[in-house]
Amino acid sequence: MSLIRIIPLQFSRVDLLEKMLPVISSHFKMETRLSDWHIDLTQFFDPVRSQYNANEMIQQLIPLAEKDDKIVGVTDLDLFIPVLSFIFGQAYLGGSAALISGHRLENQRYGLADDPKLYADRLIKCMVHELGHAFGLKHCLHPGCIMVSTTYVEEMDQKLDRFCRNCGRELAQIKG
Ligand SMILES: [Zn+2]
Ligand SMILES: [Zn+2]
Repeated sequence: MSLIRIIPLQFSRVDLLEKMLPVISSHFKMETRLSDWHIDLTQFFDPVRSQYNANEMIQQLIPLAEKDDKIVGVTDLDLFIPVLSFIFGQAYLGGSAALISGHRLENQRYGLADDPKLYADRLIKCMVHELGHAFGLKHCLHPGCIMVSTTYVEEMDQKLDRFCRNCGRELAQIKG
C-alpha cells in the first residue's frame, strides 16, 4: 500500500509534523507517516547564496519512494532554486517527492511577533500545496484555493488549507 512519508531534514518542530499527519491523511485519503532518514545536508549548501539547493535536495528524496508513495522533506533550512531568490517549497508535477521549508514562514523573519499558530497554519498550507503538485495539480486561479501560487507569506495567509471544487475534483480523478 502506498504512503505519504513526511521526513524531517534538520527540522526543529517534529511535534508539529506529528499533529499534521491526520490532516494530510484526510486531504489526500492516504496513510501518512513520519519517517526518519539521515543525509548530510551540508552538500546542498551554496556558499555564495548562503542557502540550500532545493533541486539537489529533492533529487535525493525521489529514490526513497516505493510504488506510488509520496515523500515530503521538511526543513528549517533556507531553500532556493537557481531562478528564484527563495522558495517555500518545491515539487515536481506528478512526481514522487516534495520539499518544504519553514524558514520564511516565521513571523520573526519579518520583524513581527512570534505567532506559533500562524506558523503551523502556513506550514500545513505549504505542505498541502506541494503535495498537490506531487499528485499532479497545477497552480489554480480560484481565490482562496490552496493551489494558488504564492510568493509572500501574506498571500499564503489569504488561502485556506483546502482545495477549491475544481482542484478537489481533479485530485479525486487523479487518485482514481
Ligand atoms: Zn506551487
Ligand atoms: Zn483550485
